[in-house]
Amino acid sequence: MHSSLLVAYRRRVMIDCGLDWLGRINEVRPAAIVITHAHPDHAWGLKEGAPCPVYASAETWDVLSAYPVEQMIIPPRRRTGICGIDFEAFPVDHSTRAPAAGYRVSAGRAAFFYARFAEIELMAKERGVRAMVAFDGMEEVIP
Ligand SMILES: [Zn+2]
Repeated sequence: MHSSLLVAYRRRVMIDCGLDWLGRINEVRPAAIVITHAHPDHAWGLKEGAPCPVYASAETWDVLSAYPVEQMIIPPRRRTGICGIDFEAFPVDHSTRAPAAGYRVSAGRAAFFYARFAEIELMAKERGVRAMVAFDGMEEVIP
């Protein structure tokens, strides 16, 4: 399946929803979905809709504006509460057509950073989190 992460802290928030998830989102029962960027392997599972609000950057919604979902914007570098879980978006270099964000995800005293492999270690160190989850780890690193 395309990379996706389910964060459960009282409620369930799904991070990324690639094409493999098309027609299968209801099996996950998320209360919200957060998208890192508009590439097929991260967002195209939503092209026929979603059973919950979907959060992404304004740039991502520019690309996916036709998607029939409740489009919620996460502003960069500002903590945004989603179903009791805090998400802070950090723009990362990935694609000019589909600008990407990594997220610092925290709830209570726990935190982790979810981002593209190339940026994750540096970003996590800067933000003081110990746990990291990488997406797109197999892609070429763009200098
Ligand atoms: Zn991508």
